[in-house]
Amino acid sequence: MYSQLVYILKASNAKRKCSMPVSIQAQVLRELSAPYTLESLQLDDPQAGEVLVRVVATGICHTDIKVSQGYAEVPLPVVLGHEGAGIVERVGAGVTELAPGDHVIMTFPSCGHCQPCSSNHPAYCDGGQSLSFACQRAEGSSSLSLDDNPVHGSFFAQSSFASYALATVRNTVKVDKDLPLENLGPLGCGFQTGAGAVLNVMQPSSEQSLAVFGAGNVGLSAIMAAKIAGMDPIIALDIQKSRMNIALELGASQVINLNQENDPVAAIHTLTGGKGVNYSLDTTNQPVVVRHAFESLASRGTCIHSGGGGKDLSFPGSHLLQGRTVTGVLQGDSDPGVFIPQLLEYYRQGKFPFDRLLSFYPLSEINNAITDMESGRVIKPVITM
Ligand SMILES: [Zn+2]
Ligand SMILES: [Zn+2]
Repeated sequence: MYSQLVYILKASNAKRKCSMPVSIQAQVLRELSAPYTLESLQLDDPQAGEVLVRVVATGICHTDIKVSQGYAEVPLPVVLGHEGAGIVERVGAGVTELAPGDHVIMTFPSCGHCQPCSSNHPAYCDGGQSLSFACQRAEGSSSLSLDDNPVHGSFFAQSSFASYALATVRNTVKVDKDLPLENLGPLGCGFQTGAGAVLNVMQPSSEQSLAVFGAGNVGLSAIMAAKIAGMDPIIALDIQKSRMNIALELGASQVINLNQENDPVAAIHTLTGGKGVNYSLDTTNQPVVVRHAFESLASRGTCIHSGGGGKDLSFPGSHLLQGRTVTGVLQGDSDPGVFIPQLLEYYRQGKFPFDRLLSFYPLSEINNAITDMESGRVIKPVITM
């Protein structure tokens, strides 16, 4: 009897010793389309293959906003956020790639085993949808709790709207410590989406032409990448004058104001000597805009749709017959461990000045940051912890 009691005490002590939950501050979504509430939660100690990251800053992405409005089903209550950057605090069993003190960007998760992962296209991981949106660990457990009640975390294997996040080795990218960590989180989603659409998917030769529909953070990162690739002309289309001005500064050769131009397809043909563009990129997810992006193509051109999906799109079949392609892109088809360091090298060279697009807010101001993003007042809000 006594030895049994000792065993139970030892077992419970051992359990407590290997599990040291961290008290964190997090912005919690308790109801769809409701404001976030700042709460104190408990976050698990890292398990095998996981890393505990002290979040320094996190971008807000349109996907966070769409999910909070019910466009993709997630369990509630939940902590969202998937553009986190921070410092590794602890690592779980078996983690040799990262150590406490390392600076990391958190990006999208992937399984590492399926055919897309094995062929260096982890953005199209067979398990990616579940790993990003099920809001639980891959094996089904919850990493977050409030007074022993589970709160859903592991959104994109991070849930970065919080002072600490649990990520996996596969969705963290180590970065040099001299880089400004508070700027880097959006490289893990928005900026690699736009830049990757150009550099990974289009892989254009120099002097091929591009039209970018929507000069938000995805469109502007595509424009910076197009300039790096030597594309010409680079035509930016938007409804906001301030964004068109930034587009011109970052590499666009021409801009078309969609508030003033009723026929953007004709305008693009005029700017390209009647031929149309070799590539077009839609970042708006508006079916009429995607159609314009497609109709703007030269023969054998490619239109890339990166606007979030979910809507029915239609195109004139006769136009498709001229060797034209319509395709979609997730995460810029990026292999983050390769592509993010490449983007950081362009940043160091002054060729990818993504930090010009950032506006900073404290964690407590996340609801205002989202309002400002939706109104177009800011391009990429970043939450600092
Ligand atoms: Zn995103
Ligand atoms: Zn996979």
